[in-house]
Amino acid sequence: RFITLEGGEGVGKSTQARALAEALRARGHDVIETREPGGSPGAEAIRKLLLEGADDRWSARSEALLFAAARADHVERTIRPALERGAWVVCDRFLDSSLAYQGGAGGIGPNAIRRLHAIGSDGLLPDRTLLLTLPEVETMERLARRDAAGADRIGGKDAAFHRAVADAFARIAEAEPQRVRRVDALGTPGEVTRRLLAAIADLDR
Ligand code: C5P
Repeated sequence: RFITLEGGEGVGKSTQARALAEALRARGHDVIETREPGGSPGAEAIRKLLLEGADDRWSARSEALLFAAARADHVERTIRPALERGAWVVCDRFLDSSLAYQGGAGGIGPNAIRRLHAIGSDGLLPDRTLLLTLPEVETMERLARRDAAGADRIGGKDAAFHRAVADAFARIAEAEPQRVRRVDALGTPGEVTRRLLAAIADLDR
């Protein structure tokens, strides 16, 4: 089974990816936990190109190509081999982040992103995508705290950018309700993990 976690920055995806993988392991599943950009040696090298350097180092279009190249390597070297041996794959960000960031907020549009994904990764889609959602005020508060702590991100994005990303994610969830489930990210980490497990319960049998 292939599960992805999506959502804007500060929504708790990484914490939840770890917790979800742990919970699935506790149920006896073989689970690999991975993330984008990165997740294979080649893709990690591309991650450095994407996350280091000035914010405007890449145009939205070149950024989309780099993400697609990183994803192609990640799918071929890490995700497909794991799925083929019957493991569960829990991935922090995947195609939908490209649709939301480069496609939506970056203005490239979803069709070009999907074409790149078809070429790079044979259009591989998750069995379930868990979209973590927070009210906008909560997101901006969390990001202000994270910036103060000096976290590494493609930074300097304003509220309008984050809103464009959230809108694009919401459109995907509406268009693909079977694959994409919205999960409320407010509450304790344990509460959120329980919601995530409920949203994949139909896959775990
Ligand atoms: O939140 P996380 O640490 O997973 O994201 C790393 C950075 O990469 C974030 O700043 C996010 O906005 C950016 N990103 C992006 N396009 C993607 C995936 C991630 O701009 N397709």
